[in-house]
Amino acid sequence: MSAVQSVSGKSPSATPETHDVVVVGAGFAGMYMLHRLRGLKMTARVFEQGDGVGGTWYWNRYPGARCDVESMQYSYSFSDELQQEWDWSERYAPQAEILKYANHVADRFDLRPDIQFNTRVDRCVFDEDTNRWSVTTSDGATVVAAFVVLATGCLSNARMPDIEGISGFKGKVYHTGNWPHEPVDFTGLRVGMIGTGSSAIQSVPVIAEQAKHLTVFQRTANFSIPARNAPLTAEEREIFRKNYPEVRRFAREEARNGIYTELPDRGALDDGDNDRRAKYEARWRHGGLTFMSVYNNLALDKTANDTAADFVREKIAEIVKDPDTVKLLQPNSHPIGTKRICIDTDYFVTFNRPNVTLVDIKSNPIEEVLPHAVRAGGKDVEIDALVLATGFDAMTGSVAKIDIRGRNGQTLNQKWAEGPKTYLGLMSAGFPNLFIVTGPGSPSVLSNMIVSIEQHVDWIADCAAYMRAHGFEAMEATKEAEDDWVAHVNEVAHTTLYPQANSWYMGANIPGKPRIFMPYIGGVGPYRQICNDVAAKGYEGFAMTGAEEARKVAAS
Ligand code: FAD
Ligand code: NAP
Repeated sequence: MSAVQSVSGKSPSATPETHDVVVVGAGFAGMYMLHRLRGLKMTARVFEQGDGVGGTWYWNRYPGARCDVESMQYSYSFSDELQQEWDWSERYAPQAEILKYANHVADRFDLRPDIQFNTRVDRCVFDEDTNRWSVTTSDGATVVAAFVVLATGCLSNARMPDIEGISGFKGKVYHTGNWPHEPVDFTGLRVGMIGTGSSAIQSVPVIAEQAKHLTVFQRTANFSIPARNAPLTAEEREIFRKNYPEVRRFAREEARNGIYTELPDRGALDDGDNDRRAKYEARWRHGGLTFMSVYNNLALDKTANDTAADFVREKIAEIVKDPDTVKLLQPNSHPIGTKRICIDTDYFVTFNRPNVTLVDIKSNPIEEVLPHAVRAGGKDVEIDALVLATGFDAMTGSVAKIDIRGRNGQTLNQKWAEGPKTYLGLMSAGFPNLFIVTGPGSPSVLSNMIVSIEQHVDWIADCAAYMRAHGFEAMEATKEAEDDWVAHVNEVAHTTLYPQANSWYMGANIPGKPRIFMPYIGGVGPYRQICNDVAAKGYEGFAMTGAEEARKVAAS
């Protein structure tokens, strides 16, 4: 029997439940993975630690949360019926609507029966004799599977800052990445917010509307571009729907970041000051992530990058009234775009409100949180509630929480101690039949992630089908292919300005985490081509073993 033929269903209590595939996580990646496996008639069990689908959009319920890739593109493309029938209400849908969409997908494709909620995967151990994974979950059960797919998310492990005294704070403490399900009311409260990344930049204007006073504690100023969010009209939706074949093809095959947009054909220094300014103005007016696509060398050439950074700094000075606040809000510690650029609605203008204060904790670091205040630079700021918008242990954090043991009992954490090592971001040598969706070493967080998720899920599903058809039981990346890929990812990253920022892409937000540029910056189009070529060449760089091969080896 091939590895991926099923011994499915509930078993007698002494025998663990067995599936073709265990999928960890029920965000957009885990849900689509399940759908594809069903299509291949493989049995799958999805484990999700939350009590619902949606991943990011299940956990990040903070005020103002919404996507930064336009909804007509930040959505699944695998089902034309789905993309034709779902009505996005705004250019950038709010969190609740994206979560509703995730639930709609789960119902429409009848995914829930194979998803076990409120169940965390704690341990995965590979048995080299049987080529099977034993997966232990938080309810104490163990299931056995030929394959494990980690669809655990790149931004799913919310990070509490190491600030003394937080546990002794007498008011409520919230983390944007793990927000309560019930509405939070800040009316009449003095709120403190630590962090000024995308989550803070989205939530500051909304919380400021409600709170009595909002104090924002900023360590690093960030570049942000107006979203220009607006309701979507039926006509606007229709244009997308008619053009979806081309929009989706372009996003997959030609775009660097999985977004349908004009590709720039010139560098920032090829235009004179006036033309360049006019182009930046047009993109600023248009709003959104495509600001960075106005020229083709903004991520490569510091002088070119400075022209865009200066433009945004000037805009901040035009919007914000108080000169000291302007200086603090103008980012100057990293080239624009080398940290994920933020997309906002009224972020900078919010600092003109009388009930909002910006505190510079770069020069005056937070010393501690007291029962009713935050102490920074020797001054106490009294607050009633504290919001931590302090980000995630990104890309590797959720994987590292699982005790994963591959060949010879080696753990993935041991192997990745000096930084994640993968081939194509899909597999790590020594861990057969263990796939990662949008793992480190793939374009992942540098892209419209649904494009990258669909590409990985399709590749994994096709690979599992290939193994079944050819009788292979185990597959793993060769060390040589992995070493070459890690070197390539690193080399490409260092041709850009990205490594100049202390970003979570580099692991720089986690004390002690190795500083490695984790995503692959070669672009989603070229990357897809590489993955397709690897598959077309019989999964070049991967070693496959199966019953037939084992028989031949034994006979020789
Ligand atoms: P997730 O959505 O993170 O889902 C992973 C799931 O795995 C989670 O539900 C988690 O609970 C579960 N899980 C993890 N470990 C375990 C375990 N051991 N056992 C059981 N379950 C486990 N990307 C974009 O392209 N555009 C955007 O506009 C955008 N906006 C974002 C906004 C926010 C606030 C954040 C935080 C991220 C945003 N992203 C955006 C990135 C976003 O994470 C991806 O777009 C996408 O939703 C990821 O889907 P996923 O299924 O890979 O991971
Ligand atoms: P983030 O970008 O990592 O920002 C965290 C913020 O907290 C930074 O300002 C950081 O300062 C600060 N911080 C962390 N630890 C601190 C400490 N101990 N003391 C003081 N300040 C501290 O996290 P995020 O804002 O949650 O965003 C993470 C990613 O999620 C984004 O880059 C994006 O990919 C995605 N996201 C997208 C959207 C969207 O628009 N759709 C919204 C939210 C999130 P330093 O910079 O100095 O470290």
